[in-house]
Amino acid sequence: METLIPIINRLQEVFLTVGAEVIQLPQIVVVGCQSSGKSSVLESLVGRDFLPRGSGIVTRRPLVLQLINVPPMKDFIIFNLRVFLSQGISPEPIYLKIFSPKVLNLTLVDLPGITKVPVGDQPEDIETQVQEMILSFIGNPNSLILAVSPANSDLATSDALKLAREADPDGRRTLLVVSKLDLMDAGTDALEVLLGRVIPVRLGIIGVVNRSQHDINTQKSLEDSLKDEHAFLQRHYPSLASRAGSRYLAKTLSRLLMHHIRDCLPELKTRLTVLSAQYQAQLNGYGQPVEDYSATLLQIVTKFASDYCNTIDGTARYIQTSELCGGARMCYIFHETFGRTLQSIDPLGGLTELDILTAIRNATGPRPALFVPEVSFELLVKRQIKRLEEPSLRCVELVHEELQRIIQHCTSFSTQELLRFPKLHDSIVEVVTGLLRKRLPITNEMVHNLVAIELAYINTKHPDFTDAAQVSASVNSQQVYTVCFSDTLDYYSSKRFKASFTKVLDGGKHWKNEKVGVDKAPAGGFGSPSKAQAVNLLDTSVPASRKLSAREQRDCEVIQRLIKSYFLIVRKSIQDSVPKTVMHFLVNFVKEHLQSELVGQLYKQSLLQELLIESQDTAQQRTEVAQMLEALKKANNIISEIRETHLW
Ligand code: GDP
Ligand code: MG
Repeated sequence: METLIPIINRLQEVFLTVGAEVIQLPQIVVVGCQSSGKSSVLESLVGRDFLPRGSGIVTRRPLVLQLINVPPMKDFIIFNLRVFLSQGISPEPIYLKIFSPKVLNLTLVDLPGITKVPVGDQPEDIETQVQEMILSFIGNPNSLILAVSPANSDLATSDALKLAREADPDGRRTLLVVSKLDLMDAGTDALEVLLGRVIPVRLGIIGVVNRSQHDINTQKSLEDSLKDEHAFLQRHYPSLASRAGSRYLAKTLSRLLMHHIRDCLPELKTRLTVLSAQYQAQLNGYGQPVEDYSATLLQIVTKFASDYCNTIDGTARYIQTSELCGGARMCYIFHETFGRTLQSIDPLGGLTELDILTAIRNATGPRPALFVPEVSFELLVKRQIKRLEEPSLRCVELVHEELQRIIQHCTSFSTQELLRFPKLHDSIVEVVTGLLRKRLPITNEMVHNLVAIELAYINTKHPDFTDAAQVSASVNSQQVYTVCFSDTLDYYSSKRFKASFTKVLDGGKHWKNEKVGVDKAPAGGFGSPSKAQAVNLLDTSVPASRKLSAREQRDCEVIQRLIKSYFLIVRKSIQDSVPKTVMHFLVNFVKEHLQSELVGQLYKQSLLQELLIESQDTAQQRTEVAQMLEALKKANNIISEIRETHLW
């Protein structure tokens, strides 16, 4: 065992740092009849005198001896000895730990001896009980079976071998120990047995002489006993002396364990390689300690800026799969959120027939109107257009939020280097947030203006405003004196129209709606506006409800159709121009100026050092991972060394 200890120790020392599992040596399980010498054999293997031995069933429960190697200086410690005193047999093992610099990390199992006849208070089925217990231990394919059979009884009747064969039919892990060579009848010897001529055993048959009860009683030391054993073997089995005895048994076990380790090595080596690669990658991820501050800062800032832009463009390397993000989310905001909201706005929402009638009345002044007055349409349609502003501003807000979210995304996923530098991380977030905040009011202003622009001029000549012609036609078929708007109507340019319209205006059209700021000419150059006092539409009192006259009904319908038609044109335009505005004034602007803004604010000699202070975590993790890699390398070296220098 001595040769194994340093190797296994070195490996284990390495694995202790690596934290990986230690090579699992097989459990060595001793089986044999009662008093065959199992405990004695184990003791000579461990090199210490500590197990209870004697006649009768002394070992009553499985005894799991965990040998634990400790550095020299620490002395032998044994736990749980008192449990030996318990009566009866039980499959419940007793665990005993032995700490010593002279042992391998190895588990030895001492089992109660095989018995046939219950003695004293023993149960009737003690034979089966013990057998089952033994089989449960030696059935473990990672166990090495030491079958102990005394030389003074017939090997052919050995229950130990019988059980061992049951658990290990191929004999790949069974070693036969023939004990009590000194107790054979005068004139007989075990030569034939030891040579494997009686029963061959694949891993070998080793004869030993343990201490007799007398030796134990007179406290014969283990060393003396080994010397005497050697002398005995030389005298009685000179041809076999080098392949028998407790020392040889220990060596053979060492060899078997070595074989086991050798078999484990390829897998171990693979594992080391895989682990090394993993840790190396992790180490690379931490980056090197900063040497060139300027270059590092520029590099990180540039990386962040390009990650940010890539996320918006959808060309980022790290693509989220759990949710929409970046450019895709903006697309969603524009077309789903914003688009749908606009679509859901009812062109005539919030306009009652009475509102319309009142507007018509206000637009006609004191004289009853001959035509449906255009100004009432304009007034009312503006009121509807106004309703587009709020969702448009909300769209800006949503995109702004998304741009804010991308910062988070980039600093935690894409630009991993930033995790190393918390100060720089925070500063970048601050700068980009600042830039976004600066652009937000400008974008809002633009979007507000988009609606204001629509309000500024109601383009009744809009090429899509064809509904006016139809309305006009249908109304004209019912009533002669009705004027409607149309982009194509020659009627507008006709002298007759101008004459009649001017008449209407001259009739004293006094209106003004401060709310929508309508104080200029009605659409399309139809005469000049007449400045007048303000009459607030909403203040005009009208009966809460009454039956509309046929004329009123018809006028309402005309206005409603026109409002609807014109509103749809404007809505389409806003739906189109708001995303463009947001892209131009907010998204693209930020994309273009991000890098220069970051460099401008952060690339300052006085700041560099401070921004690039590594986080405690990173520094520590890098050291840990580096240590781990070092340990793995060492383990690899040891393994190669074992392969080269040790004879198998
Ligand atoms: P176990 O029941 O199989 O664990 O057997 P023990 O190890 O307790 O030994 C039973 C008895 O046989 C003890 O008194 C030992 O001293 C004695 N004994 C064991 N092996 C030998 C041996 O090789 N020669 C002699 N003379 N006595 C032995
Ligand atoms: Mg015993």
